[in-house]
Amino acid sequence: MQGAGSLRMRYHIDTIPVWDALKHGAGCPLCALRRKTERRLVERALGASVMSPDSRIKVNRTGFCRTHQQMLYNAPGGNRLGHALMMLSHLQETRSRLPRLLDTGAPGGKLAGLFRKGKDASGGPRSPADSAGCVLCEELDEQSRRHAASFLHLWKTDAAFQAAYQQSVGVCLPDAQALLLLAPDFLSAREQAGFRGLLESQLAAALQALESDLSRFTQKSDYRNTELPWGDAKDALERTVNHLRGWCLGKEPLKDER
Ligand SMILES: [Zn+2]
Ligand SMILES: [Zn+2]
Repeated sequence: MQGAGSLRMRYHIDTIPVWDALKHGAGCPLCALRRKTERRLVERALGASVMSPDSRIKVNRTGFCRTHQQMLYNAPGGNRLGHALMMLSHLQETRSRLPRLLDTGAPGGKLAGLFRKGKDASGGPRSPADSAGCVLCEELDEQSRRHAASFLHLWKTDAAFQAAYQQSVGVCLPDAQALLLLAPDFLSAREQAGFRGLLESQLAAALQALESDLSRFTQKSDYRNTELPWGDAKDALERTVNHLRGWCLGKEPLKDER
């Protein structure tokens, strides 16, 4: 564990967004914040960043992953010209590096993921297109690290945050794992043990409730169960996926927050 001041600087601690996400979000606050950040990054990539020399250099070299290409393409009030201008210079740089790219596998210089040993963070093998690197993924990872660090800083220093978090549904499984990996930088061994205990009991309770809701959801597809009340089961599939894998389905979290 390091001094609080140096950690604050190293991680660029910013507690307000984490507090806001906890207050306003219905599910995992870190997922809600990640998604909100992702939407903002896409907006920025199509806006000011198109003309910013620094971000153009990065985009020219690295480009965007498939998921973020889709988000750029489908962005509300889209900017096809901005997207096309970025892709034009990325295409030109890719052409100039073609022989090297064929030898090294991907614009990021990494070997094509499908044939690389090891797995990605989500546990599945990466496809070659995913391993190509993405400026938005890189920025999003950096911001997510900052959110997790700010969460742990709040947990250690703010009793009101601890109390509010304990009343909430808690973080999803991947974010719980990420927080525990980062926890030694912020919490003493005793604090880590307490924090881990809370995460485990919160997750155990959340997964048990999801199991019952998802089971009800499947029962409702049987015509003999039309009289069975839905209870909380209507969005059980989305909530189960989001809690096990991180938010990716259903209503956009923090959509109306700016
Ligand atoms: Zn999450
Ligand atoms: Zn990406």
